[in-house]
Amino acid sequence: MAEDRAQTQGAPQGDVEGLEEQERGFARIAALVEGAGEVAICAHTSPDGDALGSGLALALAIRERWPEKQVVNLLADDAPVPRIYRFLPGSDGFVRASEYDRVPDLFVVVDLSALSRLNNARPICEAAPHVAIIDHHPCEEPFGDAYVIRPEAAAAGVIVTEFVRFLGVEVTPDMAQCLFCAISTDTGRFQYQNADAEAFRVASGLVEAGANPALVSLNVYQSFRLQYLHLESLVLGRIVTFEKGRIAYSYATASDFERTGADLDESDGLIDDVRSVAGSEVALFLKEVPGGRVRGNLRSKGELDVAQVAQRVGGGGHKAAAGFTIEGDVDEAFSTVMPMLTELVEGAASEGEAE
Ligand code: 5GP
Ligand code: MN
Repeated sequence: MAEDRAQTQGAPQGDVEGLEEQERGFARIAALVEGAGEVAICAHTSPDGDALGSGLALALAIRERWPEKQVVNLLADDAPVPRIYRFLPGSDGFVRASEYDRVPDLFVVVDLSALSRLNNARPICEAAPHVAIIDHHPCEEPFGDAYVIRPEAAAAGVIVTEFVRFLGVEVTPDMAQCLFCAISTDTGRFQYQNADAEAFRVASGLVEAGANPALVSLNVYQSFRLQYLHLESLVLGRIVTFEKGRIAYSYATASDFERTGADLDESDGLIDDVRSVAGSEVALFLKEVPGGRVRGNLRSKGELDVAQVAQRVGGGGHKAAAGFTIEGDVDEAFSTVMPMLTELVEGAASEGEAE
């Protein structure tokens, strides 16, 4: 019976216990929404397609199920919604956390489980009497009163879709578009290791509910400004490899951004260029960001766990996709992180040799 529901609802399949645990979490989150007058929803700093799409869809679903509630989508940063995501229905309704001056009865965190990544929204979360979390990042000690955190889920959007179905709310075309964008972007267009059967099953349901995959691709992957493409060509031209080709690396400096006119928020995909080198197992992309800091993206194409490296420099993420922000310029960040990556790759080599 539970198996049947798993099939039709697109919930975790073949694992009845996991499904039941998720449903218990959903029930607790729904009860918190039920008891709240105002609900604020927020995702992580530097929001990506999953952060934005999941948050928007969740707000739409709560409004559908509880029309009397006040529901607000917050942005952790002061920066506007990245241009490539402005096609998402409802994206013009985001409120900057720094401009939100109330205390919501319930604060719902999506696509993150580390308080530090809430940036300006952190004090709001800390002041709220109740906190719920829907996430897929590995997390040892969730800080919420109720949560569904499933690191094996491809995207927070997968779990939000299942929550919408749990609520008995019909997935509208707008919700479907937001959620499809969430899953498509977090799986690298269904290409990364996290693109599993559940991701495809849920995505298929979203297309049936009215999501338009071609429109998502057109906006997210085929609408680059020339300024960005010129920056990309610089980054491509600089890719180098280390450790017999197992580590691929490239970077962009603050002056590259200035020279090309590219915006920081449109440069999230550059790590995909770096990871595309044949034979590379891990990829590192560094970019200089305002405030004398460097933002790093790490990716693993196989079994190596890059989250370990990100954590060593104060960041985090998943085994196959992680990130961090550190003080300094690109050269300094490179000197700090590259030895750690080398260690990771060499460690794997010596384990292999020992076998
Ligand atoms: P990206 O490289 O695309 O920014 O991030 C890759 C993954 O790592 C995402 O799931 C993101 O949420 C997570 N991540 C990126 N930066 C950080 C960070 O500074 N701290 C933590 N805890 N996770 C991060
Ligand atoms: Mn995500």
